[in-house]
Amino acid sequence: MSDAEAGFKSGFVSIAGMPNVGKSTLLNRILGEKVSIISKKPQTTRNRILGIAHQPLSQIVFIDTPGIHRAKDRFNTRIVETALSALKEVDLILWVIDAALPDPVSENLLTYTLKPLNKPVILALNKIDLVKKPLLLSLIDTLSKAYAFEEIIPISAQKGTQVEKLISVIEKLLPYGPAFFPEDSLTDLPERFLSAELIREKVFHLTGQEIPYATAITIEAFTENKKKALTTIHATIHVERDSQKGILIGKSGSKLRRIGEEARKDIENMLGNRVFLKLFVHVQKNWRQDTKALRRFGY
Ligand code: GDP
Ligand code: MG
Repeated sequence: MSDAEAGFKSGFVSIAGMPNVGKSTLLNRILGEKVSIISKKPQTTRNRILGIAHQPLSQIVFIDTPGIHRAKDRFNTRIVETALSALKEVDLILWVIDAALPDPVSENLLTYTLKPLNKPVILALNKIDLVKKPLLLSLIDTLSKAYAFEEIIPISAQKGTQVEKLISVIEKLLPYGPAFFPEDSLTDLPERFLSAELIREKVFHLTGQEIPYATAITIEAFTENKKKALTTIHATIHVERDSQKGILIGKSGSKLRRIGEEARKDIENMLGNRVFLKLFVHVQKNWRQDTKALRRFGY
């Protein structure tokens, strides 16, 4: 029996949009698990994050991307390139907009970023929990005139509102085909990477100003003791300056301890294992302008 006869569909869908609109929140909501880190601050996501949604009659492979914005330095240029290149490889683009922003859509983005790709685009109008209905309706009206979206779906990624409806619209637009990944896989990302991301998320949550942006994480050791159900992880938090190192460590080590404790809990949850996490802090002067360092940190 062919896939079409069996009715099974599969395909790649890129979740794209401006920073902070809720792309990663949406991916985690769809998967029911955290594969992509989230914060109130823009530019939290830096890499292409793949998440696989298994439905009875489809397999949808989502690619969460960094927000598309005007990059000012070498690091952010790389990040935006990552986002844009993810748009080229997919069957369908899921463009996410923050409905609660006064001006949620940039005409330039639609005209110069989306249009040349020549792919079907679904618009997810996110954060509707923050918007009054009349405003939402007029926004939908404006957006439907601004671009030829396949569909416009108002959602709340945080509350889960209309996310199932979104999935069914995506399914409708996907081609017939077999599954790409085994049934039990959630992502193609290694546990080492996900662990580093969870540490980075805590830095985003627990430090302010430029510190989150000056931070990169490397994993020095990752060893599993199956018998003891214990994973030992040594990770380094790289910052750009001595002053940042001081803030990150905090008064008698209190800040770093808190980052470590919160990250450990999340990593334990992900691995289903006890975790011993040891953190180091290292100053790598101006790594965001350093091509070699960018590569070493995975960007
Ligand atoms: P990304 O940069 O587009 O990946 O955005 P994130 O997923 O990191 O989310 C940015 C911020 O928006 C976080 O503080 C989220 O908790 C918040 N957020 C995401 N979706 C919703 C939503 O549906 N409603 C509300 N009120 N907040 C949301
Ligand atoms: Mg994100």
